[in-house]
Amino acid sequence: MSASDPTVAGQPARTGLIRAMGRGFLGRCPHCGEGRIFGRFLKVRPACEACGLELHHHRADDLPPYLVIFIVAHLVGYLILELEMGYDVPLWFQLSFWPLVTLGLALGLLQPVKGAVVGLQYALGLHGFAGLPGVRSATEGDPAIGQSGAGQGGHGRAGLGRA
Ligand SMILES: [Zn+2]
Repeated sequence: MSASDPTVAGQPARTGLIRAMGRGFLGRCPHCGEGRIFGRFLKVRPACEACGLELHHHRADDLPPYLVIFIVAHLVGYLILELEMGYDVPLWFQLSFWPLVTLGLALGLLQPVKGAVVGLQYALGLHGFAGLPGVRSATEGDPAIGQSGAGQGGHGRAGLGRA
């Protein structure tokens, strides 16, 4: 898992992908795991209050809702089928129970999934996350960036149509 990146002269290494996403899922800063990502429900703080990592770079956009729809639809769809095939459940129960479950799961997962997406973008060095707290310039030969998945994404904005 978190194959620890080489540390640059005492500066903090970038957190590995799985751990960064896990921290984000729990609403914690992917870099230090201390500060909180969210100021409000889905409002990402401009920067981590604990380590100073700039969080405003994130471009989670529509990915969190897509992922939540994917997860919740598969889960609820499967459970509805299981219940329908295995038990004799009255229609009124199905019609009132599953919408509530769907709504609850969707609202409950939205923030953690968005946090995980922010952690993903941080771990891959995307969208300005190439820079780490205490590291002066992101694109100036930081070996912690060129690793693994960030191969051609070292410049963060390389994948974006506009800068
Ligand atoms: Zn932090």
